[in-house]
Amino acid sequence: MALKKCKECAKEVSTKALSCPHCGCPTKSQNNALGCSIAAIVFVLLLWVAKEVFLQFSEVRIFGRKVKFR
Ligand SMILES: [Zn+2]
Repeated sequence: MALKKCKECAKEVSTKALSCPHCGCPTKSQNNALGCSIAAIVFVLLLWVAKEVFLQFSEVRIFGRKVKFR
């Protein structure tokens, strides 16, 4: 089983794999780079939103005092 580097995340992927198991980027088609990039951007945005939501809920005011659960 041969390995080649994913063009998106540069991790090693089987040449038999249809898509990269690390980032989901298709390995066969060269035309899906745009869709792959959009998927990566959406993924980063989701991570960012999740972080913001977590920060909102990790800081709660109790009796007027800021309490941080971190
Ligand atoms: Zn990849």
